[in-house]
Amino acid sequence: MIHYALVCENEHKFEAWFRNAEAYDEQHKRGIVTCPICTSVSVEKALMAPAVSRANSEKVSLSIGHPEHARLREALQALRNKVTSEADYVGDKFAEEARKIHFKDIEARGIYGEATPDEVASLVEDGVDFMPLPNLPEEHN
Ligand SMILES: [Zn+2]
Repeated sequence: MIHYALVCENEHKFEAWFRNAEAYDEQHKRGIVTCPICTSVSVEKALMAPAVSRANSEKVSLSIGHPEHARLREALQALRNKVTSEADYVGDKFAEEARKIHFKDIEARGIYGEATPDEVASLVEDGVDFMPLPNLPEEHN
C-alpha cells in the first residue's frame, strides 16, 4: 500500500491509499481519483509535510502517590492479561497489521505487538484506532 497526500483544484487537502504508485497513476489517468469534499477529479499529489521527530521533544504524563494507583495497576494488569490471552501476537509487525485491519485489507481481529515511536506517529496520522498496551514496571525484570 502507498499513502499519498492529495490536493484538488479547489485546494482541498485529503489523503488516500493505493495498492502502489502505478495504481495511483492508472486511477488518476482514468479520472477516478476524486476529492471527497467537492468530488473534483482534478487532483494532484500534495507535498508531504516533513515528519517531525517526536522522540525527544514529546513528554509523557506521569503521576505518583495517588491512593487509587494500586487499583488502577490491577485493572491495567487485568486488561493486559485479557488482551495477551485473546489477541494474536504479531511482534514488530504491529504497525503493518494494524494498518491492514484499519483499511480493511484483512479481516478485523484483535492483535497486539510492538511498534517504534515513528510507526506509532504514522498510525496516529492515518487515524488508526489503537490503544497503548500498559507495560507495568514489575514485568521489566
Ligand atoms: Zn475538492
